[in-house]
Amino acid sequence: ESHVKFFRYIILGGGVSAGYAAKEFTRQGLQRGELAIISKEAVAPYERPALSKGYLSPKRPSRLPDFHVCVGSGGQRLLLEWYREEGISLFLNTEIVKADISSKALTTSTGRIFKYQTLIIATGSTVIKLTDFGVKGADAKNIFYLREISDANRLIEGVKAKRKGKAVIVGGGYIGLEVGAAMRINNLDVTMVYPDTWCMPRLFTSDIAAFYEGYYANKGIKIVKGTSVVEFNANSNNGEVKEVTLKDGKVLQADIVVVGIGGRPLTSLFKGQVVEDKGGIKTDGFFKTSISSVYAIGDVATFPMKMYDEMRRVEHVDHARKSAEQAVKAIKADEYGVSIEEYDYLPYFYSRIFDLSWKFYGDNVGETVIFGDHNPLSKEPKFGSYWIHMGKVKGAFLEGGTNEENEAIAKVAREQPRVGNLEELAKEGLSFALKA
Ligand code: FAD
Repeated sequence: ESHVKFFRYIILGGGVSAGYAAKEFTRQGLQRGELAIISKEAVAPYERPALSKGYLSPKRPSRLPDFHVCVGSGGQRLLLEWYREEGISLFLNTEIVKADISSKALTTSTGRIFKYQTLIIATGSTVIKLTDFGVKGADAKNIFYLREISDANRLIEGVKAKRKGKAVIVGGGYIGLEVGAAMRINNLDVTMVYPDTWCMPRLFTSDIAAFYEGYYANKGIKIVKGTSVVEFNANSNNGEVKEVTLKDGKVLQADIVVVGIGGRPLTSLFKGQVVEDKGGIKTDGFFKTSISSVYAIGDVATFPMKMYDEMRRVEHVDHARKSAEQAVKAIKADEYGVSIEEYDYLPYFYSRIFDLSWKFYGDNVGETVIFGDHNPLSKEPKFGSYWIHMGKVKGAFLEGGTNEENEAIAKVAREQPRVGNLEELAKEGLSFALKA
């Protein structure tokens, strides 16, 4: 049948992990016509984190092809031509709506069928929407979300139409903080709203959060904490959002709303067909699922985190890249009948906002100490934090570090040295990591 196409390898999804997997396939040796990538996006795989950073900059914003993978890890950009030259078929604007693992077939929204020998699931996450909770008026115009480049383009159009307008950011996580900063840089009057007592509560300690919240206040961003949005009111003439009503009764004026309240892994196509765990698709340390011809990488994979002897899912770009490389190495090793080391991942998260840049390595468990200059009014603030559990350093955070210093805190998080006195550790600060 002409509408059925077969590939030895199919990567479902065309995001970060898909791009890095393609690169790894070519390193391992790939024949022309063996690999296809199927993506509902219109563009080749790119470094998604750029969307909430340089992409939203009013001055010389970054644009494709600048940030196609693999530039994010210092590699060469994979342009459309690259896929062509390598004989990799890239099916863009192509959404898979049905997956049947027993017949190894994927069906597109237009009824085309793709068959594979080995499948790599790389569908990433989708945003959680306020309409999912039935928040009144949440379908008004100018309420934006940010996951894909098409979302970012809509947001940019919205910002252009509302120069110097009022932006309300819902959510105090990564997306909320990064987009809040970007909206302020675009000269909008920004208010952030989140239900928690401080921003990024899943990672930040109250001390770390106090620094960033102070820094934001100093940039003219208003922060409303401990409450949530209950209703949006729209202009009756054009349907555009006008007011945001909060649980505590407060009403905020808004020309634009950006919502960043988290994501959900896109696993639904495989429900009941592969074993799941902790909201993701369960894999081993080689990203193989419960079905031996199916792998899962990036945001959707729940894998054994060897260091902590626990199954975890990680929604960060560094893991998207590394899990992709590991899965492809494992697929090729299987074919050659050789074995490779199990994935041994050190969690690594980062963010860049205004002139700031932080990195975190390891696990944020146990007691914490903060060190360095964390006064938000300082000219050049530089500080960090350690997490200490059962007498060992488990996690380390650093704002404003050099490459060498960041490597030092990564090493500490990996090696987990013992510490005696926490007060001394706080006094030693960064030098503890540098001499470890
Ligand atoms: P994705 O990159 O999301 O790719 C999934 C792809 O699959 C998409 O192209 C999607 O369209 C496609 N797809 C899904 N379903 C289908 C289907 N049924 N048919 C066809 N195609 C499909 N992480 C950090 O560590 N640091 C950061 O600073 C950072 N910033 C971020 C900023 C933004 C705005 C966002 C959205 C994320 C950010 N992240 C960051 C998280 C990071 O980008 C993700 O963890 C990473 O992209 C995950 O890679 P992935 O390949 O699993 O999924």
